[in-house]
Amino acid sequence: MKTLNGIHFNGKRAIMRVDFNVPLNKELQITDDSRIRAAIPSIKKILNDGGSVIVMSHLGRPKDGPEDKYSLRHIKNHLGQLLGLEVKFADDCIGESARELAAGLKPGEVLLLENLRFYKQEEKGNEEFAEKLAQLADVYVNDAFGTAHRAHASTTIIAKFFPNAKTFGYLMEEELSSIDKVLKDVSRPYAAVIGGAKVSSKIEILENLLDKVDDLIIGGGMMFTFIKAQGGQIGNSLVEEDFLGHAIEIMNKAKELGVTLHLANDAIAANAFANDAEQMECPANAIPEGWLGLDIGPKSASAFRKVIEKSKTVLWNGPMGVFEMENFAKGTKEVAEALVKTSENGGFTLVGGGDSVAAINQFGYAGRVSYVSTGGGALLEYMEGKILPGVQAILD
Ligand code: AMP
Repeated sequence: MKTLNGIHFNGKRAIMRVDFNVPLNKELQITDDSRIRAAIPSIKKILNDGGSVIVMSHLGRPKDGPEDKYSLRHIKNHLGQLLGLEVKFADDCIGESARELAAGLKPGEVLLLENLRFYKQEEKGNEEFAEKLAQLADVYVNDAFGTAHRAHASTTIIAKFFPNAKTFGYLMEEELSSIDKVLKDVSRPYAAVIGGAKVSSKIEILENLLDKVDDLIIGGGMMFTFIKAQGGQIGNSLVEEDFLGHAIEIMNKAKELGVTLHLANDAIAANAFANDAEQMECPANAIPEGWLGLDIGPKSASAFRKVIEKSKTVLWNGPMGVFEMENFAKGTKEVAEALVKTSENGGFTLVGGGDSVAAINQFGYAGRVSYVSTGGGALLEYMEGKILPGVQAILD
């Protein structure tokens, strides 16, 4: 892997793609700065080497050119505080002013560029636009795992202008090496815990994981498509009728490959999709009409826990129930606790995919598992076995 430590940045200007797509409130204040914090080690390494850094990112989804609410100007001071220095700002990411500011950067200085997506060329992967960005610097660093699945100008195309001077940043390196621990260099036994609402969005991941895992645990709303495919009664629970056939195929393939598939035996059913709905425990394949399964039941939770705790590697993607509602969060919480236990016993646990990350944060366990991935779509595509253009562009 091409790593940041492989380059000495003394006297060099680096252009670094980061993911500063942070949430802002109505007053345009940052409400969660974890993505900015995540890029600090890479920036500091370059500055400590005696180099300077041009930082570029997108923010939000501007539709038609510049819009104040999507300006990276709102990020500038906070970035400066985290770095302990005054950050310069270019209010256009290309053009004369950006060129002058970049050329004037001294070792130890940081220049933040305005939102890349104020130009349509960014998402189109336009080569001229990428070249203009490239002309600002000597080295290209990609530290934006969250956008690595997009072949945009600043994430992918730009790399070709730095054939011998491009590298991953620390965050990207950590993401890739962590995900490789559940895709390539796996310690066994290996369990994947997959949940969430839809089978359709997880099919490719399930298929890609089947020849890697020892145990496959399926919970969340998507389990009901599997249970219905086996002839179970699921009442009004979530189901994707078009995927009943896929569910059977996955179950057959698991059997063929010797993978133990764990589906919930019991469920917490409710008479409405609401936290204060009436609820009861029942077999997951005997949910009465008018009731819907909103969480795995206690027997399944403890069975899943046992599988997770005996594993050396665990990948978790997708909640076991509607964890956003307190009364249906128990199954998800037990899974999270089991991951913590496995990590404490020296196993490797990775949590990835939007909602399981939200869940582990909600329970306060994020610091107690081995790794929480920052990449939503990028992580899913990588786990599906796809080549991420932003990663490939550095390796080429
Ligand atoms: P996904 O984005 O497919 O990972 O789905 C995450 C969402 O699935 C969360 O918002 C959960 O509330 C929801 N979910 C999990 N279990 C269930 C369930 N049994 N019924 C309905 N929604 C569920």
